[in-house]
Amino acid sequence: MSLKYDFNGKVALITGSSSGIGAATAILFAKSGANVVVTGRNADAVAKVAKQCTDVSPKQLTALEVVADLTNEEDCNRLIETTVQTFGKIDVLVNNAGTGIMALIDDTNYMKQFSLALKTNLNSVVYMTHKCVPHLAKTRGNIINISSIASKRSLYGLSPYCMSKAGVDMFTKCMAAELGPQRIRVNAILPGTVATNFMDVFELPIEMVDKTYETVGQKYPVGRVGQSQDIANTVAYLASDTVAGFITGSIVVTDGGHLAANVSYE
Ligand code: NDP
Repeated sequence: MSLKYDFNGKVALITGSSSGIGAATAILFAKSGANVVVTGRNADAVAKVAKQCTDVSPKQLTALEVVADLTNEEDCNRLIETTVQTFGKIDVLVNNAGTGIMALIDDTNYMKQFSLALKTNLNSVVYMTHKCVPHLAKTRGNIINISSIASKRSLYGLSPYCMSKAGVDMFTKCMAAELGPQRIRVNAILPGTVATNFMDVFELPIEMVDKTYETVGQKYPVGRVGQSQDIANTVAYLASDTVAGFITGSIVVTDGGHLAANVSYE
């Protein structure tokens, strides 16, 4: 169950919307009347979520599908240009696409993994923001960056990921201050563990992933891990000028109590 938001007439570009948190966010925006852009590298997954968005849209607005790799600047440019050509503007940018990167400092491929983490989780956020600001200035829009609790605490073997997300938090604060005069709000969300396809990259057996969610969920003060909808709800709240017009530069923890309870994955 979620509150009712009115995003009629708004255009929302949500990166990484072909799966998990991004998909739930795109669907929620579509349900609330927005024109949405669904994007990711996998065309089939993009098409599937785009259809779900159109199906829930009160006016059956067709979601825009863009297959793009955000580590590639040409793809980012095409994503933004196609959005503006199709819908005429951008009101909300959700920098959500990201991936888990695991590497220990003495691994031979550490620098490669570190570079990939920065490229995917940080540089793409910076580049998308850099290119979208002129459009967001016109609409007095807002940006929501999906960071992680990993920006606030170390997670063993995940230093590239933790550092990339710490960068997202600082970028959020710098941009909130810098873009305030253009009336662009910028906020970040720190999810705790959320059951999505995020763990796929670690190639663990599905039973182990389910067990992890169960064990971690039991340690969370709320008694469960997050669902994509939990985070989508926070995105919609922050994106709404009506309810969150006074919020900018905030790091909004949405983690079931993970940080407060200092929950360990071990
Ligand atoms: P998913 O794996 O379900 O979704 C990730 C999305 O990002 C997919 O749509 C994927 O599409 C896209 N993506 C990844 N790399 C690229 C790329 N190079 N170019 C374009 N798109 C890309 O994971 P989540 O929904 O869980 O993750 C969303 C965000 O939430 C991430 O930033 C993650 O770090 C963050 N987060 C997740 C947590 C969790 O426990 N799930 C906890 C804290 C933060 P495709 O692969 O088709 O390109």
